[in-house]
Amino acid sequence: MLDLRTIPIFDHHAHPLLPAEATAVPQTFQRWFTESSDPLVHKRDTPHSLFLRSGVRWLAEFLDCEATLEAVLEARGQRPYTQWINALFKDARIEHVLCDYGYLSDDGYDAEKMQAVLPCPVQPILRIESLAEKLICEQAAFFTFVEAFQEALSKAQAEGIVAFKSIVAYRSGLEVKRPSTRDAHDAFNRLKEIANCSDNVRLDDKPLNDFLLGIMVEEAARRQMPIQFHTGFGDQDADLRTANPLGLRSLIEQTDAPLVLLHAGWPYYRELAHLTAVYPHVYIDLSLAIPFATTGIPTMLREILGMTPLNKILFATDAFTMPEIYWLAARWGRWGLSKVLTEFVAEGFLTQPEALHTAEAILFANARDLYQQK
Ligand SMILES: [Zn+2]
Repeated sequence: MLDLRTIPIFDHHAHPLLPAEATAVPQTFQRWFTESSDPLVHKRDTPHSLFLRSGVRWLAEFLDCEATLEAVLEARGQRPYTQWINALFKDARIEHVLCDYGYLSDDGYDAEKMQAVLPCPVQPILRIESLAEKLICEQAAFFTFVEAFQEALSKAQAEGIVAFKSIVAYRSGLEVKRPSTRDAHDAFNRLKEIANCSDNVRLDDKPLNDFLLGIMVEEAARRQMPIQFHTGFGDQDADLRTANPLGLRSLIEQTDAPLVLLHAGWPYYRELAHLTAVYPHVYIDLSLAIPFATTGIPTMLREILGMTPLNKILFATDAFTMPEIYWLAARWGRWGLSKVLTEFVAEGFLTQPEALHTAEAILFANARDLYQQK
């Protein structure tokens, strides 16, 4: 097997950590090893998942303790949290993180805290649905709302934002259309009424979502700012029927902004591999599918690497809540890549130097170059 442990990781898609106390006991720790929000799954089923079982064993080896979740949590709890985070990041060789603060935004660490606890640069990604929801509450009228939205996007790069992100897959689906201003205006009025009585609002109205995406895509194209789109599986909010990356085809054809389709579109990674092979500005991200697909990772990678140009594949962790998820995702990712690239060398598809170069590109260089962090 090729040894990929010395190759650093540019983690171009991740989320904030929670304070240590939030994941200190088995129930609150293991619940993050599933995408389900059902307490029965957290309690009864997750202990039987391969992701948790292997995770506990690997963490126990790293902590030099008994291979039970209780022992792992006790050993982890004896260390200062920042020191523990640093140990995991150093071991995983994660050397750069791009963070979307739109998930766990109530309890998770903010940008300042993330930078304080991680031993590497952390840069923000702007989730546009969260921005729009905030502005709907702040702005009285549709036209001032649209102006404020445009202004926030145009300032983003100067404020250090390195990518836009959309979760429209969760809200009204990836089949993004070009709605009329009139329909978007009507949708704004409906949401504004809700915002007036509740002080927060969920942007799930298709004409308004699609209208705002149109503005965002133009701004991103002008600046060649990458846009990350959630595609495929995710937490229980995601409806897989509207999350197939093929739904984005008409939007893909409208723009030349770099589009990074997240989570390998899992389970639609073949569809996504095809899109990356035919459109110059479409990239495939492997996060969430790594680590959650566990033993299925090599099968997925064999198909993706077989079709997608190797300069357009990006590893990330999509980690959230706790540093162990970052570490486990890095481990599953290096294992899967190593397994598949070793086979490719044995079969004569790649030379050994080409295989190592490919691993460096997927783990680090492709993301560094795309987000222009040279
Ligand atoms: Zn994510």
